[in-house]
Amino acid sequence: MPLLFERIKDIRNHLERLRCDEGKSIGFVPTMGYLHEGHKALIRESKVQNDVTVVSIYVNPTQFGPSEDYERYPRDLDRDMAICEELGVDVVFTPSDEEMYPEGFSTNVNVSCITEILEGEFRPGHFRGVATVVLKLLNIVQPDRAYFGEKDYQQLKVVQKMVKDLNLPIQIIPVETVREKDGLAFSSRNVYLSEEERDSALSIYKAFQLAQKMISEGKRQSEVLINAMEDLIRSHPHVTKIDYITITDPELSPVQEVREGDRILIALWVGGTRLIDNWKIKL
Ligand code: AMP
Repeated sequence: MPLLFERIKDIRNHLERLRCDEGKSIGFVPTMGYLHEGHKALIRESKVQNDVTVVSIYVNPTQFGPSEDYERYPRDLDRDMAICEELGVDVVFTPSDEEMYPEGFSTNVNVSCITEILEGEFRPGHFRGVATVVLKLLNIVQPDRAYFGEKDYQQLKVVQKMVKDLNLPIQIIPVETVREKDGLAFSSRNVYLSEEERDSALSIYKAFQLAQKMISEGKRQSEVLINAMEDLIRSHPHVTKIDYITITDPELSPVQEVREGDRILIALWVGGTRLIDNWKIKL
């Protein structure tokens, strides 16, 4: 079983011993738990590249808006611990809210510009919560490398920007999105979907495939691609709202004509569940 820590001072003592006395390299995978194949890919990458792998499991309240799914977000520590054991995780960190945000806590990290578009527009304050908790976790664990999924592409960019701007001596390692056989990206939130809703959720991947096919036929205008994806998605009965369908360069600036490596980013609602996904364009 991995060693389980709930207190900051305890995990710090333990990791300091490994880092300083034993000279071990540390890989860190921050998660909100309810682990799936996407998380497992991050953990496996960390296992390959580091002596010690630390996983945090913490549903961070400050990155959820007041009407979002913080209360019902799926949680199952026993199941997560079994998965961590199976993968050979060394240390699991599960702090309480009091441990992370004791009374009087009043410091927040604001990464400007890229947090104001896309997810930032539809989830005000979300990235402030993310950047703050990620910086705290990085300071607590002090890893050599930290692993983030491309599934949350904008989050990855925000974390990379924060690490660069604040000169943190940590390598951020992006990991490609892991998908189910039919293309649906693994997400802890997929458990909210009924069978019919899951069918409609697949419209996201079908839209990526449609755009990719049009691109291979020579269509490069973002507007044309976006309209086609929107029509396809709207034909699915359980898609209740599209927050955005956009095509950007790798740094999240919208493009009019697509190039290799650009990203299609989609956020939409299926019934009461909000899903996000993105796709790297190949020419
Ligand atoms: P979460 O528990 O949803 O906060 O995710 C924890 C980490 O796992 C984040 O870096 C996510 O981007 C990453 N992740 C979530 N789903 C996937 C996926 N399907 N493929 C790859 N990484 C993922």
